[in-house]
Amino acid sequence: EFQEKREYLRVNRLAAKYYNHCLLHTREGSKAMEYIKERGLTAETVEKFYLGYAPPSWDGLIKFAHFEGVKIDTLEKIGLIIPRKDNKGYYDRFRNRLMFPIEDVTKNIIGFGGRALDESMPKYLNTPETPLFSKGDNLYALSMIKKDPALDTIVVEGYMDCITLHQYGFNQSVASLGTALTKNQARLLKKYTDGVILSYDADEAGKAATMRGIDILAQEGLRVKVLNMPNGKDPDEVIKTYGPQHFQKLLTDSMDFISYKLFLAKKDINIQTHDGKLKFIKRAVDILTGVDNEPELELYAKKLASELGISVQAIKKEVQRRKL
Ligand code: ATP
Ligand code: MN
Ligand code: MN
Ligand code: MN
Repeated sequence: EFQEKREYLRVNRLAAKYYNHCLLHTREGSKAMEYIKERGLTAETVEKFYLGYAPPSWDGLIKFAHFEGVKIDTLEKIGLIIPRKDNKGYYDRFRNRLMFPIEDVTKNIIGFGGRALDESMPKYLNTPETPLFSKGDNLYALSMIKKDPALDTIVVEGYMDCITLHQYGFNQSVASLGTALTKNQARLLKKYTDGVILSYDADEAGKAATMRGIDILAQEGLRVKVLNMPNGKDPDEVIKTYGPQHFQKLLTDSMDFISYKLFLAKKDINIQTHDGKLKFIKRAVDILTGVDNEPELELYAKKLASELGISVQAIKKEVQRRKL
């Protein structure tokens, strides 16, 4: 089995080399290169992330692998090809896509993400579950960040977000490969850092994922902050639209997750009214039950108390009661 995995890893690297070659040295690839340039990525970034291009052909990779003496079985096992419906032969899974090799922490290539360059769906296609790749067990670019508890790690949704951040010097960035952050990913992160800044897309999916992600990360003992992204935008768009300095400011202004939850809880409520106050207090108390550090709880309670014109004791008492 160990030998098998070694062969799988070798073939994934070979495939990455093929895709990278197609991007840099073929006529079809030059269109993908144009797209990359349009999105503002530099040649250095292409090299750093070993980006590639899967040509439109149904058997480009199959032919290349055959030439290199790779067994067809191996290609299927690692998800690079798909058996035809009639069971006669195979076709390449990734076609006409910009390719993002995904490394594990030891820098082995365990899978790929592929972005469509035309209107084909899905926009992003990943390697399926294979003996090497399991989506919820890895983070994109984790192998590139520093193992330093003092540095906060920026967690984004997308490949493009992560790559753009690195290009502009935000080197401590990883992507959770889609929106559903898992417990295993949180555990993995904890080995690299003590603090995380969640920077998901400011769309409905991203906001929902932020709320779930917060609790998963906090449960693994990570200090969690949330970046307040302009509505509808993602980190890549923020940098392209407002510049890296603006993203830096958003990072600096990012809120601890309790403050973020309190901020959201207040958003649709008019706390000038009696009913509004009660409604907000109820939500706030719920949120504060998640704080088990007594002085920290006191700080939040104080802030709320002065905001609402009630006593700190009233809030703390209600939190204790709710915890039981
Ligand atoms: P781009 O900027 O290239 O349009 P994005 O990274 O902003 O793409 P989103 O649609 O915001 O893309 O999705 C965020 C991330 O979620 C993607 O980078 C990808 O990792 C993942 N994702 C999105 N759609 C799919 C999909 N259909 N299947 C698998 N993963 C997906
Ligand atoms: Mn999105
Ligand atoms: Mn996005
Ligand atoms: Mn985007």
